[in-house]
Amino acid sequence: MKIPQPVSEDRIKGKSAILGNIMAVRVVAETLKTTLGPKGMDKMILTGSKEVAITDRGASILSLIDIRHPAARMLVEAAKAQDTETGDGTTSVVVLAGELLKKAEELLIQGLHPATIVEGYRIALEEVKRYLEEASLPVEDGMLLDLATTMLMGKVGEDEARYLAKIAVDAVRIAGDKDNVKVLHRPGGSVKDTHLVRGMIIDLGKRVHPSMPKRVEGARILLVDTEFAVHDVNNAKVELMDPARMRAFKEYKSKVLRVAVNMIKASGANVVLCQKNIEDLAMFFLAQEGILGVRDVEKDVLELLAKATGGRIVSNVRDIDPGSLGYAALVEEGKIGLEEIMYVTGCRNPKAAAILVRGGSENTALEVSKRLESLISTLERVLRDKRCLPGGGACEVELARRLRTFAPSVKGKPQLAVFAFADALEVIPRYLAANAGIDPLILLPRLRAKHEAGGVSYGLDLRDREVKDVRKTGILESLPAKKHAIISASELAEMILKIDEVLFARGLEKESPAPQPSVQAPSTPPEAMDFPAKGGKIDFKQLMM
Ligand code: ADP
Ligand code: MG
Repeated sequence: MKIPQPVSEDRIKGKSAILGNIMAVRVVAETLKTTLGPKGMDKMILTGSKEVAITDRGASILSLIDIRHPAARMLVEAAKAQDTETGDGTTSVVVLAGELLKKAEELLIQGLHPATIVEGYRIALEEVKRYLEEASLPVEDGMLLDLATTMLMGKVGEDEARYLAKIAVDAVRIAGDKDNVKVLHRPGGSVKDTHLVRGMIIDLGKRVHPSMPKRVEGARILLVDTEFAVHDVNNAKVELMDPARMRAFKEYKSKVLRVAVNMIKASGANVVLCQKNIEDLAMFFLAQEGILGVRDVEKDVLELLAKATGGRIVSNVRDIDPGSLGYAALVEEGKIGLEEIMYVTGCRNPKAAAILVRGGSENTALEVSKRLESLISTLERVLRDKRCLPGGGACEVELARRLRTFAPSVKGKPQLAVFAFADALEVIPRYLAANAGIDPLILLPRLRAKHEAGGVSYGLDLRDREVKDVRKTGILESLPAKKHAIISASELAEMILKIDEVLFARGLEKESPAPQPSVQAPSTPPEAMDFPAKGGKIDFKQLMM
């Protein structure tokens, strides 16, 4: 995608700077708008490694496409922050920021000063924040599952969305914290083969010792984070030349390892999970005692294993005692495709959980796992905050209605910006509808009428393409995510509107010139800015080539 670069010799000033930046943000928003909502389209992105990614997930698209314009990069940063902070609403941030700037551009062309628009947008945002709190619904039983299903709809069918949503809700309830849920994905099977493990999954690769038991019931698990080996002394090379010393060293090593294994056995452990290497000889001794040993367990997985099994990670053989052992009803090896994995299940009161995501292709499995990770982080916040909002555009229509009622009380020109903010919010229901082939010109008046009549939670339910009380039909969204999205979009718009000059740092290599914005740099001071009605139009087709 080509996005315009700053084009002047060393600086771009005034209207050109603002309009150029607005244009760049709008180009990105134009790209993402068709992906919004459950009926959104996908983007096919050819990655550098000649692989193809197909996704409608805003965060994935933005991380894969090459965006160079500084203003557009600011938007990408805002979207990324939205994803990491709340797990949802990335596309909404981008689409809303694009629309706020589109409306701002119209006001600029009418002759409003950027500072006036910023003032109006700030007033509007403060009101919106207040309304959001008022409009929020307490999360009651069952609503969490509806909210999770709403977030997953689109990429997978409704049935699958509900199935996956249940897994995510259970995982968060078990683990309490998103960092305590491990999500793995493996291509193969179908999305409905995805499953939750009340314990942990260890990715074994090809690290299993052939003589180890494959299944241990009533597992008492020792978790070790140091190497299980005896090393040669520093001058090993010299020593090993001497067969007698070599034999002595081997005997010594065997004795030490034997003692260590005996200590492990005495503690009652029948499974040893080690973050580092377990020497082959030690593996052999463990196998002789019927103890299952797994080496090279990833650090984060070992920590999660401690949380799942209630065990304590030990670093020294001397620290092994029955109290440090974790418990799992079953530790069992399994196979997915060509890879071995180990299930640690049936833990007592686990504080961690794992989800193994399956899907027809690598792309599907990966996409679903990313969506689940985002969903889990959203659910964690919703569980803490305990509030949600009606989805399907209901909350945006209600916010717009309330803003329009409030706007006349704002004195002077900023009032126009408050109205513009209200109009911009409705971009969400507009694109939700348009992406599903529904005419927004028919839908919006119907939605507005419902809200005027007091139906605050009337929105578009895209499952049957009807205007409905989405609170009752269970199209719900997270309050923290929606709030964060509206705030970031409006802060970004404000930031862009306040930049009146783009300068290049010394020595900065400029990209090849891109299409010139159709507005010339002004020679007049900002106060006297007069935005031409025609010249400010932006030809997106030209930019998208
Ligand atoms: P984002 O990246 O902003 O979360 P999504 O593509 O996930 O974008 O779309 C989110 C929007 O889709 C929200 O406004 C949500 O209310 C809406 N939505 C999700 N499911 C439905 C549905 N079944 N009917 C109507 N709207 C829905
Ligand atoms: Mg979403």
